[in-house]
Amino acid sequence: MTTYVEVAINLPQITDTYHYHLPEDLEEGVQPGSFVIVPFGSQRVQGVVLSFVHKPEVAETKPVEDIIDEKPVLTPMQMALAQWMADETLSALGTCIHLMLPPGLSQRTDTLISLKDDVEIDEPSLSSLEKRIINLLKERGPLRGRQIDAKIRHIEWRGTLRKLARDGILTTRGILPEPRVRPKMIRKVKLAIDPDQIEEWQGQLSRVGRVDDRRIGVLRLLAKQTGLLEPSGIYSQTGANASDLKILEEANLIEILDVQVWRDPLEDATYIPTTAPKLTKHQSLAWDKIKKGLASPQKGHKAPVFLLHGVTGSGKTELYLQAVEKALAAGKRVIVLVPEISLTPQTVKRFLSRFPGKVGVVHSKLSEGERYDTWRRVRRGEIPVIIGPRSALFMPQEDLGLIVMDECDDESYDQQDRPPFYRGVKTALAYARLSGAVAVLGSATPRVTQFFQAKSGGWTYIELPRRILAHRETIANVAKQLGIKLQVAVGEADTADLGLPKVDIVDMREELKAGNRSIFSRALFTGLEKVLETNQQAILFLNRRGSATYVFCRDCGYVIKCPRDDKPLTYHQSLKALICHSCGYQRKMPETCPQCGSKHIRQLGTGTEKVEQKIQAAFPGARTLRWDAETTRMKGAHERILTDFSNHQADILIGTQMLAKGLDLPLVTLVGVVLAEVGLNLPDYRATERTFQLLTQVAGRAGRSPLGGKAIFQTYDPNNYVIQAAAGHDFNRFYEQELAYRRDLGYPPFKQLVRLEYRHYSPDVAQGAAEEMANNLKGWIDALGLRTEIIGPAPCFFSKAYGQYRWQIVLRGLDPRRILRDRQFPDWVIEVDPSSLL
Ligand code: ADP
Ligand code: ZN
Repeated sequence: MTTYVEVAINLPQITDTYHYHLPEDLEEGVQPGSFVIVPFGSQRVQGVVLSFVHKPEVAETKPVEDIIDEKPVLTPMQMALAQWMADETLSALGTCIHLMLPPGLSQRTDTLISLKDDVEIDEPSLSSLEKRIINLLKERGPLRGRQIDAKIRHIEWRGTLRKLARDGILTTRGILPEPRVRPKMIRKVKLAIDPDQIEEWQGQLSRVGRVDDRRIGVLRLLAKQTGLLEPSGIYSQTGANASDLKILEEANLIEILDVQVWRDPLEDATYIPTTAPKLTKHQSLAWDKIKKGLASPQKGHKAPVFLLHGVTGSGKTELYLQAVEKALAAGKRVIVLVPEISLTPQTVKRFLSRFPGKVGVVHSKLSEGERYDTWRRVRRGEIPVIIGPRSALFMPQEDLGLIVMDECDDESYDQQDRPPFYRGVKTALAYARLSGAVAVLGSATPRVTQFFQAKSGGWTYIELPRRILAHRETIANVAKQLGIKLQVAVGEADTADLGLPKVDIVDMREELKAGNRSIFSRALFTGLEKVLETNQQAILFLNRRGSATYVFCRDCGYVIKCPRDDKPLTYHQSLKALICHSCGYQRKMPETCPQCGSKHIRQLGTGTEKVEQKIQAAFPGARTLRWDAETTRMKGAHERILTDFSNHQADILIGTQMLAKGLDLPLVTLVGVVLAEVGLNLPDYRATERTFQLLTQVAGRAGRSPLGGKAIFQTYDPNNYVIQAAAGHDFNRFYEQELAYRRDLGYPPFKQLVRLEYRHYSPDVAQGAAEEMANNLKGWIDALGLRTEIIGPAPCFFSKAYGQYRWQIVLRGLDPRRILRDRQFPDWVIEVDPSSLL
């Protein structure tokens, strides 16, 4: 009986799957996940076997021609995840499979050529090229195609090879070559005893005749150091040599480690403990729960999901590290996901120094070759801890015991620019469930839906309410240099907690009344003055998303809204009109405020550049840095700006969204938000939570050290619950209010959304298609007897993309996917659980 298989073709543009049959000699080796060569049109291409099929969908199947590598390219868990994703996101299975293969895999395959044993070779009948190939294989044993290329140059030998294979003289087999790169390791030295014990040790060493000024010098040098030192640095500063270090190591006074290298612009700015510190009280409570979760038998059981809710600096990463350690000790492997932007050397280095030699990093700047090598090493089980952005989830990590997801609210986990449009958290949790792995999610500002799940949806909610006072050494040094008086005594226990920065709300309408027309309130101005005087640093934040779009009155704060559904109207320059993005309502821009008659009615928004100019005008000596889309276009720009600012090369950092997360800058004692309500009025149900998240995160940038610090929110809307809750660091108030709204209005987590988008160069065609689709949807919904609502069709908020007009329809209901399942919409973008409705 013939065996048939379903194959996904490994070409990015081919998302359909095809049926083939297995020739007899491949029946043994091929299994789901196998990487194979199949005929496709007139080509031979690589593909992945998805499953065995009973009955092919075509009468005449073509054969699978070869199998590349004995080991499948996809693990059984990955196959299961791909199936789950295809169903969950209503995407083609092929697009999900593509996520799991490294790009350029096809180009990397090679052929292994071996002479068959005990064949009779009829020498005289061979051509000279045939003889050359055979002799080469006799001399060297089996060879890869690329090795033969190197030996037989400028001659087309592959045709000849195929003939020899047909004649039964040799065999060829597809293979995946070995990874080339290994992680770069360097030697580092650290003190193994308490610095205070050096004098004591000096006495003991001298008794056994091993005291030596050079060796004591090494110990003293290390004692001054918070991190690790390289031997070469030690030699040059103390005159010691390798045998001195060896003697010290044998006496257990120092430790010599092989540490994996990772470029690090902040090398000296942070103290990185290489062994686990004693946990704080809150961390211990959390750890007890996580530890239990990790210890319970998991296969077949529901593995627990934890949500760690705590501001940056509350000790989440330390708990991730301990969880990883525990999982490794149990012989399990780990995936650690972090948003690309916070995949900083600081984070990576903490994992590297805690688990030397066990950590691999995936990130967008890897070349195809590096990505392949990493993928290959993970597949061979050589990297027990893999860290990276969302794509790291698709590394072939087997025996998965733990998935960590830091900043699980981050939108970069959601793939929004190409199919499959998957949601990172949901996908990671599905993977954890399939593999029986524990999931530890962390966030300073969980999404409303995540908070809801954690409180009442079966996750375990763990709060880390306090920041940990860190950087004491760094700060003490800097403070001494600058002659700054610290607000908290340095020398307290390592685990002393630090309060959250105080936030002042400044009513900008009052500033106008007092005659201040500047974009800086008097409070912010004074604050900046003080920062500059005392040699500290400040951050000014502008929310770029949503600026210059909605229209409001600068005198009374009135926002112009749609009379039909109360959504803020958006100004469109091209149409010179205000538009509602829910229902399509349009009106002209008013000349005066409908509420108070003021002429100061206009769009909101100031750019970073303008703010920088104003700072320079107001504070001529101040050194400014801008961190926005424009200044970070160059490669390495993020790191450079961050390094410059953390090295105090600038006094004031002016930036957008990018600076909200992960920054750890001890000298920043003032954060100013230029206009806190920007973003709140975007026509998207997640606009409020996004603004809340940004405001709390940005405020958290201040006072990350014993220097203390505060934040100022400038606003024309000081009574807004979002701004008030963010200023009070009051998550519960925000979430309760927001959940109540969502329950009333029928938004997630109470209802599910599916967004359908159509694009066309002609606005009329786009509109027509959207209207037709809406009609069809209505028919299908009625036929199924569902209560799913259709919102729209309406132009998208960002009404054009790449010259095309965008129209959208949003389905809202308990299971809107039911309507779309088993239907094909090749011209539409369909997004389940859209992370944005803009
Ligand atoms: P988060 O991940 O929430 O931002 P971290 O785990 O990075 O928090 O902790 C913040 C700082 O406190 C880091 O510098 C970390 O090294 C330090 N830290 C964390 N836990 C402890 C602890 N138990 N004892 C001493 N320092 C700690
Ligand atoms: Zn007004």
